[in-house]
Amino acid sequence: MYADRINALPPYLFAEIDRKKREAERKGINVIDMGIGDPDLPTPPHIVEALCHAAGDPANHRYPTYEGMLAFREAVAGWYRRRKHVNLDPDSEVLTLIGSKEGIAHSAFAFLNPGDTALVPNPAYPVYNNAVIMAGSVPFYMPLLEEEGFKPDLDRIDVDVAKRAKLMFLNYPNNPTAATADTEFFREVVDFAHEHQIIVLHDNPYSELTFDGYEAPSFLGVRGAKEVGIEFNSLSKTYNMTGWRIGFAVGNSELLNGLRVVKTNIDSGTFQAVQVAGIAALTGPQECIRENVAVYRARRDVLFEGLQSAGIELRKPEATFYLWARIPPGFSSSMAFSIFLLERAGVVVAPGTGFGEYGEGYVRFSLCMDVELIEEACERIRRIL
Ligand SMILES: *Cc1c(COP(=O)(O)O)cnc(C)c1O
Repeated sequence: MYADRINALPPYLFAEIDRKKREAERKGINVIDMGIGDPDLPTPPHIVEALCHAAGDPANHRYPTYEGMLAFREAVAGWYRRRKHVNLDPDSEVLTLIGSKEGIAHSAFAFLNPGDTALVPNPAYPVYNNAVIMAGSVPFYMPLLEEEGFKPDLDRIDVDVAKRAKLMFLNYPNNPTAATADTEFFREVVDFAHEHQIIVLHDNPYSELTFDGYEAPSFLGVRGAKEVGIEFNSLSKTYNMTGWRIGFAVGNSELLNGLRVVKTNIDSGTFQAVQVAGIAALTGPQECIRENVAVYRARRDVLFEGLQSAGIELRKPEATFYLWARIPPGFSSSMAFSIFLLERAGVVVAPGTGFGEYGEGYVRFSLCMDVELIEEACERIRRIL
């Protein structure tokens, strides 16, 4: 019944966890779900008010332009200049997206032919791999290993593969490992991309969720990056707007145009009232980001100490709202440990293998809940370990 591209997708590994979670809830167990990366905090009120106001304006009820309102793209350019020290031409170097996931997935259709090779980090946000597969192309996995700071070792990529590869996905600050990258790494990536003629698609939705003085650079901040790539960013995590579906891609104008052509044939842009709210987010007061970060930092510290005292080995992340933890000795797999936590403690985590085979040996905890619940989860885990 389905097209080959659907049959070719890997099985959805979180399905078993989802089923066991529902089972536990049916039994009356009070489940604490630390598996999902979706902000629990509300969108700041000034952004909601901007939407309400814009929703009443009939000018916003018609089809939006494909590339997004110029005013929104100007707001993005101003934000990138102020926060990332990157200059962008709002006309040609910014494209509005219906959430960055949409742009990431459609990029595969803009740049890959059937049979092409794409370099995909592993473990990773599953959309990179699955978009490549749906485009009929072949993912080549770049393992993200702890001893290499969860960054791909570009020197280890076979020259033949590098020559063949059409594009590379990257994501720092990283989901699921919470690893960060510095501009030195991005410089290596740009050199590699120039040498092998590879398109770089850098995904940066956690660029503002950083702690302890760390600031996440833009990939485009490196000289030559704009010649080889684009960066995806989103209002989802920065302003607690996952449900609103607004993000953007910035960088190389020719690449953005390819993505725009795909989009003009599939979607009809982002609701203008949401774009107006996006302008309020990007140009309005930015204290909400600092407040958000302070909340996540406090939660991170509680979870980090709680898990450590339960005997779990992990690093304190400088960015994202995830903790990437090693499974304790004695457990045969990420999935086995995740099921153990769910059945014995009523705590849901994301098994590392849900993000790819190199996620084996780890689980991901998310910080999207009250600190009291995090404490409760840690207490339950301490008891069963
Ligand atoms: C959350 C997330 C996204 C998707 O964000 P949207 O803009 O809401 O589509 C993209 N990439 C990564 C790595 C994410 O964690």
